[in-house]
Amino acid sequence: MKLIFIGPPGSGKGTQAQQLAARHGVPHISTGDMLREAVADGTELGKKAAPIMAAGGLVPDDLMIGIIKDRLSRDDAHKGFILDGFPRTVEQAEKLEGIVAGNEGEKLKVLQLLVPDEAIVKRIALRRSCPQCGAVYHLEHNPPTKDNVCDRCGAGLIARPDDNESAVRKRLEAFHRQTLPVATYYKSKSALREVDGQGPIDEVFERIEKSLA
Ligand code: ADP
Ligand code: ADP
Ligand code: ZN
Repeated sequence: MKLIFIGPPGSGKGTQAQQLAARHGVPHISTGDMLREAVADGTELGKKAAPIMAAGGLVPDDLMIGIIKDRLSRDDAHKGFILDGFPRTVEQAEKLEGIVAGNEGEKLKVLQLLVPDEAIVKRIALRRSCPQCGAVYHLEHNPPTKDNVCDRCGAGLIARPDDNESAVRKRLEAFHRQTLPVATYYKSKSALREVDGQGPIDEVFERIEKSLA
């Protein structure tokens, strides 16, 4: 399986990608998680990315393409992968083509999760994330067993610093302006599957599996 998830912030890319990756035995590669790790570790990349992420902007293409090229060259990604959060610009999509061109195996599939902006704002307001392992919860739709504690690793949960209203608005704007053209790009190559991302998490998962079958 070589799959790309496209969808606005908070559309459920991470939630669905994680389950799919576990079921299909391929790595879940989230550029957002990789960047947050770099910020937490205080690397050069993290220092460059932190203010951009906090404001809800996009990290420059050349940096992102470098990160993905490295990650996809690792052994575990040779048989397949699920990309969550990349490509976010047409430039990134074009460069990705070159990176996977020589790879054996399946063609890239692209899945777009459709969720309207009004629903996004509500989802993100109640999203809680684990700063240690990256697990994602929702206070109403997917709460942790114990209040504010990660089921997977026991760390305390946080609201992501960029999950505030002004950064969310900026991210939605960036999605419409820079990432929707990526969906159009894949549509023109007949690689795009569109899936309704609303409704219970399990139902969305079933829809995704059907559309990939
Ligand atoms: P969301 O959950 O809102 O979709 P992510 O966790 O995927 O967000 O990404 C968080 C932030 O990291 C983005 O707002 C952006 O600043 C940065 N980022 C992640 N992936 C990319 C990318 N492919 N290109 C540019 N910036 C990125
Ligand atoms: P993304 O990776 O696209 O930013 P997430 O997977 O982090 O999105 O989901 C955003 C928030 O919405 C999280 O709090 C998550 O638990 C919740 N969520 C995910 N899927 C659904 C769904 N189908 N219905 C309601 N809430 C959802
Ligand atoms: Zn955790």
